[in-house]
Amino acid sequence: MQIQDKLFIAGRFVPAADGATLPSLNPHDCSHLADVAMAGKADVDAAVEAAHDAFPAWSRTSAAERGRLLYKLADRIEASAEELSRLETLDTGHPIRDTRGADVPRTVATFRYFGGMADKLEGTVIPVEAGFLNYLLREPLGVVGQIVPWNFPLMFTSWKMGPALAAGNCVVLKPAEITPLSTLRIAELMAEVGFPPGVVNVVPGLGSVAGQYLAEHPGVAKISFTGSTATGRRIVQASAGNLKKVQLELGGKGANIVFDDARIDAAVNGSAFAIFHNQGQACVAGSRLLLHEKIAGPFLDKFLPLARSIRLGDPLEPSTEMGPLTSTVHRDRVLQYIEVAKEQGAEILLGGKPPDRADLSKGCYVEPTVVRARPLDRVCQEEVFGPFLAVTTFKEDDEALALANGTGYGLGGGLWTQDLTRAHRFAREMKSGMVWINCYKRVNPASPFGGTGNSGYGREMGFEVMREYTQAKSVWVNVDAKLPPFYPRQG
Ligand code: NAP
Ligand code: MG
Repeated sequence: MQIQDKLFIAGRFVPAADGATLPSLNPHDCSHLADVAMAGKADVDAAVEAAHDAFPAWSRTSAAERGRLLYKLADRIEASAEELSRLETLDTGHPIRDTRGADVPRTVATFRYFGGMADKLEGTVIPVEAGFLNYLLREPLGVVGQIVPWNFPLMFTSWKMGPALAAGNCVVLKPAEITPLSTLRIAELMAEVGFPPGVVNVVPGLGSVAGQYLAEHPGVAKISFTGSTATGRRIVQASAGNLKKVQLELGGKGANIVFDDARIDAAVNGSAFAIFHNQGQACVAGSRLLLHEKIAGPFLDKFLPLARSIRLGDPLEPSTEMGPLTSTVHRDRVLQYIEVAKEQGAEILLGGKPPDRADLSKGCYVEPTVVRARPLDRVCQEEVFGPFLAVTTFKEDDEALALANGTGYGLGGGLWTQDLTRAHRFAREMKSGMVWINCYKRVNPASPFGGTGNSGYGREMGFEVMREYTQAKSVWVNVDAKLPPFYPRQG
């Protein structure tokens, strides 16, 4: 497999101006994959300039043609599905059954969805006073900066680039320093299918250098950011200089509530997926399991054996269900939270350590971990972002709702019940951008995704995201109004 390791600026792969590189590692065994160029300020400047140069022509390219290129890209990604699945698995540690079954097909579906969106983005005619025509144009913003984290780098590349390009913007995207490879490959495929130079630029680099500078850059009209709440705050501050538009998709502490009337087998299965998929490295992970006290015992009697049976291993093995965390730094952060849980008196019901297996000893593995904790414990309030589930119990619906809404976050949450009235009440009253009823973590390019509170603002996907990447312009035309003189004069 050939790995692209340079910056992608103005349609060409180039080294960083100062020659800086950073190794990208395979988290299964920390083996070396590539030395990837790391953008500095001069490279970000060059990327923003290339995007500015490309913008006039790209924004005037017909919407149908922009859509056609996005469709072509989707087809091209589909033709390279196996290669991209392997690349994403090598760089991130996602099990190949997930990158084949979800990450790559979803990336294709997202580019296709926004390909279809390009020429359906209509303005409106607004009924105003007689004699005037008032219409609204949806215009692209210009050059948009996009900063992507390491948990779903390939998929997030499509979530960010798809709508921005459909709307006629040009893009400078900074992948996470530890997982830049799939995004660079997408850039290569974009050049191949005919995206004009400069329309898309990819600048791997350190968040504190390239990311921060992109967020501050006066030539950037908008930043779309996915990552931690702490970095999100820095982005808002950095954006103040030129008042750029900001969209933030930050962390979460998803409540997954199981009521005493739930279908237990479905809830057990769905709750395991909610937390352990992608090793729990998902902003919408169902990381707090709220169990009605009547069913807590029988639920855990089924849930814990299921969690224990999850097959940990080399993510390139098709039978592997859980791979390593994406970096040693992050594994240590998760292990640290397990220590915090113990210190605060949480009871460890399962896992709580790296697996005791020689074949996994060099990798970033942590066993599926389940603890019983109290709602105000740190591990019930802070995002752990690993295969770490905190369980608490409740008696009454109101108590469950208060617990669900009892963190600063508000991204995704779910509930399992047969009671329609309760289900819709919780859907309304949960402080959360997404609610899943008798399922968890469903996503689709047509359905808006985003949060509230410390989980950020703005929405990805669906029609909603097109508002994020456009601005409305209101145009007034005098069709037959007789305008009175502005300065009526006597005589
Ligand atoms: P992070 O710092 O928020 O990283 C996300 C992205 O922002 C990366 O591309 C990062 O670059 C960049 N970045 C970092 N500092 C920046 C700055 N000052 N200005 C602009 N961009 C900057 O997240 P992390 O440190 O990798 O992970 C920490 C925690 O964040 C996780 O444990 C998890 O709780 C949360 N997280 C949430 C999501 C999500 O999907 N919402 C995703 C990842 C992490 P570098 O790669 O160089 O750092
Ligand atoms: Mg890597």
